[in-house]
Amino acid sequence: MANTDCIFCKIIDKEIPSSVIAESGDVLVIKDRAPKAPVHYLIIPKKHIKDIASLDADSANLAAKALLMAGQVAQGLPGSKDFRLLVNNGPSVGQTVFHLHFHFLAGATMVCE
Ligand code: AMP
Ligand code: ZN
Repeated sequence: MANTDCIFCKIIDKEIPSSVIAESGDVLVIKDRAPKAPVHYLIIPKKHIKDIASLDADSANLAAKALLMAGQVAQGLPGSKDFRLLVNNGPSVGQTVFHLHFHFLAGATMVCE
């Protein structure tokens, strides 16, 4: 169920515009509005789940669907199909939107930090 205070739920419901890269029944992929890499997408399960630590046995399959979507989106990259996925879980490590999402980063050489 959508959370009325959640910006990603509003994007999923198309109440707020976004740049959509891909969409399935369970997952939406949009461009991040403040990109940290040449390609920076957000892979967002449509169901409102606060963070990765809130997944349970019933909802964990949504994370798998997001991962499968990452592989599909990568096929559409120009040039290298390599990418990095990143999840922030909790405000102290940088989570600012409390609706589970995976950052999809590509298009640059990255080192593990
Ligand atoms: P996080 O800090 O891990 O919670 O990531 C939230 C991300 O959402 C940030 O990278 C923001 O730039 C991005 N973001 C927030 N609002 C929007 C929006 N309306 N459209 C696209 N990206 C957004
Ligand atoms: Zn939400």
